[in-house]
Amino acid sequence: MASQKLLMVGAGLSGAVIGRHLAEAGHEITILDARAHIGGNCHTERDAETGVNVHVYGPHIFHTDDEEVWDYVNRFEPFMPYKNRVKTTSLDPEGKRGVFSLPINLHTINQFFGKTMRPEEAHDFITQEQADTSIEDPQTFEEQAMRFVGRDLYEAFFKGYTIKQWGMHPSGLPASILKRLPVRFNYDDNYFFHKFQGMPENGYTAMIEKILDHPGITVKLETVFTRDMAEGFDHVFYSGPLDGYFDYELGRLGYRTLDFERFTHEGDYQGCAVMNYGEENVPYTRITEHKHFSPWESHEGSVCYREFSRAAEPEDIPYYPIRQVKEKALLNDYVALAEAAQGVTFVGRLGTYRYLDMDVTIREALDTARGFEAKVAQGEPVPAFFVAPV
Ligand SMILES: Cc1cc2nc3c(=O)[nH]c(=O)nc-3n(C[C@H](O)[C@H](O)[C@H](O)COP(=O)(O)OP(=O)(O)OC[C@H]3O[C@@H](n4cnc5c(N)ncnc54)[C@H](O)[C@@H]3O)c2cc1C
Repeated sequence: MASQKLLMVGAGLSGAVIGRHLAEAGHEITILDARAHIGGNCHTERDAETGVNVHVYGPHIFHTDDEEVWDYVNRFEPFMPYKNRVKTTSLDPEGKRGVFSLPINLHTINQFFGKTMRPEEAHDFITQEQADTSIEDPQTFEEQAMRFVGRDLYEAFFKGYTIKQWGMHPSGLPASILKRLPVRFNYDDNYFFHKFQGMPENGYTAMIEKILDHPGITVKLETVFTRDMAEGFDHVFYSGPLDGYFDYELGRLGYRTLDFERFTHEGDYQGCAVMNYGEENVPYTRITEHKHFSPWESHEGSVCYREFSRAAEPEDIPYYPIRQVKEKALLNDYVALAEAAQGVTFVGRLGTYRYLDMDVTIREALDTARGFEAKVAQGEPVPAFFVAPV
């Protein structure tokens, strides 16, 4: 295939992985990013005061069953063993505040109800004594949670957190969010079930820096993409917000944004990386203590982020796509615009308006780069989406 000049908008995982693959195939790659750093939302950097590697845009834990993706990330940066074990504060049925283990497991249940049940006993207790079986056909997240685990566990572990995270009462969210019983009847508190789990030894930005380190790749930071910049390029891969590409001409797709309140502490502030706050009246959703993401490092000082969630305003960083009925209708209209546009493929979490874990982002980026090569080789037009947003 003849070498092409290709532009990647965004130096996050999507832009970096597509760019690297196509640079290795002999194409000339330019990657630009509006921010002053590479890495997108996975960006990590050393905190100047404590020396701790900080997950600047919120905690990121790598987990996957995809062996090719696992080999891919390890090719650029050694991954250290890391299991995500989350704790939460909440009120027990007597209204007493405590710290509990998440996801809800046998330890949580026994502690919460003040019991010493074995797995079968706990299973019977939850499904026969706690679950609200009067709800026959749950329509909302609230009804589904009540049907699975009953009011006490629902209120302690789902209700307050969901209201804070999504700015919506669980009675306004669809039941499909909770597909199966969200409880483990053993003491497994590993948040993820995936075969491969870990943390890049020197952080995600160090890994992405190595992905971008190729003679065929030029990176330009602090450069905001405008459509006229596509001129002179054979194709654009755009990992910015889909509606932003069209200057929001149909309106804005809804997002939740996060505010982080940084504070430092001498020693160990909370004893774990992530502590959720299940109570509705605590204004933040969680506190992240970043040094616990690198247990192989040693730091006297500690840096923590209190995390607050709210609806994104135009100037805010878009974090989580809302994807309710209203947004889905607007998304369809933007997809139609995108499909009519020429010379651009929309990729990644913002380009396709979906929440994507890092492993899925990398999988889709590799598939997109390969799909692009195949289309060009066959002399066929390159589609606006290799993965449909709807
Ligand atoms: C709070 C939070 C926690 C997460 N935790 C995890 C986790 O624990 N595990 C996991 O696997 N995944 C996690 N993720 C998902 C992970 O962040 C994404 O998979 C990943 O960031 C997607 O990469 P991307 O390149 O598609 O997008 P991004 O990382 O958002 O990169 C897009 C880049 O494009 C740039 N850009 C946008 N518009 C323009 C423009 N007009 N001009 C120039 N540049 C532009 C942006 O500055 C940005 O750098 C989490 C996500 C969030 C929001």
